[in-house]
Amino acid sequence: MAYLSDPVTILKGVGPTKAKQFAALNIYTLEDLICHFPRGYEDRTRIVSISDMEVDRPACFKAVVMNTPRTNHIRKGLDITKVQVADHSGRLNLTFFNQKFTAEQLNYGEEYIFYGTLTGDYTGYQVTSPSFERLDSAPVVTRRVLPIYPLTAGLSNATMLKTIQQAMAICDTPAEIIPEPIRRQYGILPAERAYQAIHMPSSMEEAELAKRRLIFEEFFVFSAGLSLMRASRQQKWVKPYNKKGLSAFIDAVPFALTGAQTRAIEEIKTDLCSGKPMNRLLQGDVGSGKTMVAAAAAYLAVQNGQQAALMAPTEILAEQHYQGLNKLLSPLGVRLQLLTGGMTAKQKREGREAMEAGAVDLVIGTHALISEGSAFKNLGLVIADEQHRFGVAQRQALASKGDAPHLLVMSATPIPRTLALIMYGDLDVSVLDELPPGRQKVDTFLVGENMRARVNAFIRKQAQEGHQSFVVCPAVEEAEELNIKAASVWAETLQKTVFPDLRVSLIHGQMKSAQKEEVMAAFAAGQADILVATTVIEVGVDVPNATLMVIEDADRFGLSQLHQLRGRVGRGKEKSYCILTSHNKNPETLSRLKALCSTNDGFRIAEEDLRLRGPGDFFGSRQSGLPVFRVANLACDLKTLKEAQAASVRWIEEMGTKSTPEGEVLRRRIGELFRRSAGTMN
Ligand code: ADP
Ligand code: MG
Repeated sequence: MAYLSDPVTILKGVGPTKAKQFAALNIYTLEDLICHFPRGYEDRTRIVSISDMEVDRPACFKAVVMNTPRTNHIRKGLDITKVQVADHSGRLNLTFFNQKFTAEQLNYGEEYIFYGTLTGDYTGYQVTSPSFERLDSAPVVTRRVLPIYPLTAGLSNATMLKTIQQAMAICDTPAEIIPEPIRRQYGILPAERAYQAIHMPSSMEEAELAKRRLIFEEFFVFSAGLSLMRASRQQKWVKPYNKKGLSAFIDAVPFALTGAQTRAIEEIKTDLCSGKPMNRLLQGDVGSGKTMVAAAAAYLAVQNGQQAALMAPTEILAEQHYQGLNKLLSPLGVRLQLLTGGMTAKQKREGREAMEAGAVDLVIGTHALISEGSAFKNLGLVIADEQHRFGVAQRQALASKGDAPHLLVMSATPIPRTLALIMYGDLDVSVLDELPPGRQKVDTFLVGENMRARVNAFIRKQAQEGHQSFVVCPAVEEAEELNIKAASVWAETLQKTVFPDLRVSLIHGQMKSAQKEEVMAAFAAGQADILVATTVIEVGVDVPNATLMVIEDADRFGLSQLHQLRGRVGRGKEKSYCILTSHNKNPETLSRLKALCSTNDGFRIAEEDLRLRGPGDFFGSRQSGLPVFRVANLACDLKTLKEAQAASVRWIEEMGTKSTPEGEVLRRRIGELFRRSAGTMN
């Protein structure tokens, strides 16, 4: 017998070379191997007679070899072996390419079982390179449901299959973590049967059942983790805020808060005064005014003698929050401190010292700078803005820091239900479902290259009316440099040849942050008519005078990302527009983009985006902080997710506090899942 934690090298046939290939698939131990699940199956259980075979439909057939296989050497590197087989219904030619030795194992007069696909037309039919085995051999490549595994160079499906089966034969499958009553309630296979069946199903139905169990298990582990996190946070006691007055703050705000803002602030206040750490998500479409709600929360923290931290995903955004909030809050006696990578080492050090000494009340900076070993004197509230790069693992790390600070997570991306449950299952939710008054719908158009002149004329028109335009060029992470070039080349073209009389500026992610800030500030101050940008301007940037957003090659963005970008305009009183350009002729792509033209409803767009692109790409970045699931598909497994969530709640209630062997394994698995997810952040 062997242990799940044993290295794959203890298996027969796995030497250093194979081990390296497995490592490329993140398989190091027997457990990794057993948890390497098929990506699909081939149903080879159907056995038909030769006359019943259909073209292009793979099937098994039982046939006798009618002659001795003959190989022709066509040219260097090409051998063709031909052999004829027959059953009671007819004859069939088999052709093998470069499989001389395999094919010549077929003995004249003997019967085999084959698996292959019939091709050809009335001039002649054949089966090319079928798999086959003797009738008296155990079913390996025929007469069964064959798992198809994710593979890597040098590693064949057959090797993977054999290696996994070898591992399963010498060691137990991962331990059961779902208690029997819960399995019974949800019709879930026991662990051992599920692991057997996922790798060696006797039918497609059984494979499905096994898959359902493993998806359920993943969600169960994850949901239980969230529930445990939440429960342990809620056991903590924090001093309830007793200074609840907000009137000075509300008087200082230059506009009337919306009903939704007022409601959210009340909900937050209730949390802060409850004696338990707040765990709240503030969700609201772009422009719904989340910053004011955050400011109110920070103001309350400071009034109650605590420090607050506002974490932004980009330096531009941190800078902008700092500018806006400083104006609002410093007259109220709040001492603010900015902390970004663009500051000099000395400035950063002084900022940190002030934090530690308690000489500042509200620190605003990037996630990295604030979470990275910064010490506060008395941190009471952490606000994470536009947090979709700030997942469960990050929250957990933060929540375990210091004395359980209150946590407010803000999201502008309307998130589909499944993802919301996954990302924020541990949070209470406040929604800003109302935009500040006077906002108008951003009219959106999709145009081809033939409309270029009109697009340019439209940009010029905005400038003539004293308004500004954004022009966004795609920035795909993998090809960052290429795209920066695209943005900078495009900026130059616009300035030199199209708009020599207008002021064109440029901003992209590879610029020094001081430089970015300068460009952004100048644009916000109206010192440029056109800002050519990569997606660095995606989140939060607020320039109310900008009325036009042109997005080049819009097909290269996700819908939600486009929606975010569009949210950069229409923030003032003026009518605003968004123009999507695309050379793409693919009808699906175009209809995807047209969906954006016909709705401003972020939730609908988000659902559509998730359906089309899958969760990995949903946020336009793999660094989403989403947990890494092996089997579950967040776009389709909503029902199972909900069941697993209900099950995990039941589990926590019934046995969460008792120490059971199942519970111990579950806790370990939770830790592993969260660690694996945290790993994707790097
Ligand atoms: P988001 O929710 O996208 O973060 P912001 O907080 O940046 O939105 O707010 C968008 C704009 O709306 C800002 O210019 C802000 O000053 C303004 N704003 C926020 N709340 C109100 C309100 N109640 N009335 C009018 N304008 C508001
Ligand atoms: Mg914002």
